[in-house]
Amino acid sequence: MSDWRGILEAQIQMDPPALSVDDAAEIYSNAPLNELMFVAMERRKNQVPGNYVTYLIDRNINYTNVCTINCHFCSFYRSPGHKDSYTQTVDQISERIVELESVGGSRILMQGGVNPSLPFEWYTALLEELSRRHPKISLDCFSPIEIEGISEVSGLSTMEVLSRFRDSGLHGLPGGGAEMLVDNVRSGISPRKGSSNNWLRVMSEAQTLGLITSATNVFGFGESHVERVEHMEKIRSLQNETVAQGNPGFTSFISWPVMLENNAFGKMGIRRNSTGLGAGAVEYLRHVSVSRIFMNNIDHIQSSWPTMGLEVAQIALSAGADDIGSTMMEENVVSASGTTKTMASVDELERAILQSGFIPAVRDSEYNILNVLEQDRVALKVG
Ligand code: SF4
Repeated sequence: MSDWRGILEAQIQMDPPALSVDDAAEIYSNAPLNELMFVAMERRKNQVPGNYVTYLIDRNINYTNVCTINCHFCSFYRSPGHKDSYTQTVDQISERIVELESVGGSRILMQGGVNPSLPFEWYTALLEELSRRHPKISLDCFSPIEIEGISEVSGLSTMEVLSRFRDSGLHGLPGGGAEMLVDNVRSGISPRKGSSNNWLRVMSEAQTLGLITSATNVFGFGESHVERVEHMEKIRSLQNETVAQGNPGFTSFISWPVMLENNAFGKMGIRRNSTGLGAGAVEYLRHVSVSRIFMNNIDHIQSSWPTMGLEVAQIALSAGADDIGSTMMEENVVSASGTTKTMASVDELERAILQSGFIPAVRDSEYNILNVLEQDRVALKVG
């Protein structure tokens, strides 16, 4: 293994070799942040040329908070029968989509808990009705753990569940529930969530069916830098396999530190950085930079304003991120753990991008650019 200087020098070449896990951990741990960010930006220019930073006008919808998985870091879920548990009706969900349509949105990201009382037909009827009422909205719904839960309730394989959902109007799967795809970390924080291979298998099946997928990473559970890169390595490997088979791979990689304030860690008095859990701005920027350099087969790296705030998300645009996420309109899962900002206006995102030196561009959930901010409006926003 080289030291961080040699590794970064190699990565700045035109067509650098894929980083090994050990080399990625070396630059993660030891390279100065400014050097790491510089090389990440060089890789970003190579993978996503041009000066655009994209964002999506969408809405998060959490259709149920009933869940039986009980992840330690989750403040969102309620056990079946809990007085604060809920499941939204088709009409309630549809009303939220009408609001999204009124601001020019193009997709919903809908996820919830693993709710054992919802039969398979509830989901197919929901997808069919939403597709009928909102034909222009992409339905990116149900993370792999929900697909597994629905498979268990229905007795169908996860592949069959996905296939029937696709036929009912499902466009893609959110990347949620990956957290750390390293089993000794995973079993400590989400003992009932199953192995990392389950998440990867469901995503692989979705990709085989042509569904659109993204990959996420929540870090800061006390794991090492090597383990964080091992998570990235599992995603990079699946991406290589799925693309070689001619399937659409992950569109993007999105990471954020665990929010500790209101969850089981918070209740034990553990706060960000007081015990090595969570991550501050510098650690986050190192993580984004390493993910850009390591993920040589995933084009889009997203910065996370809901967890880090808009200012840190802006800096991440100079650490290799080429996308600032989405307007969201509402968010109930991460926000339940302590983040305060759960929506951003188009204006806020465009200003944030412009102030960072990039041109805002609206995209769809497949990262096709729909609109670029016109030059005459740029001066108005920056001024
Ligand atoms: S993170 Fe998801 S699977 Fe885990 S308890 Fe919360 S809702 Fe359930």
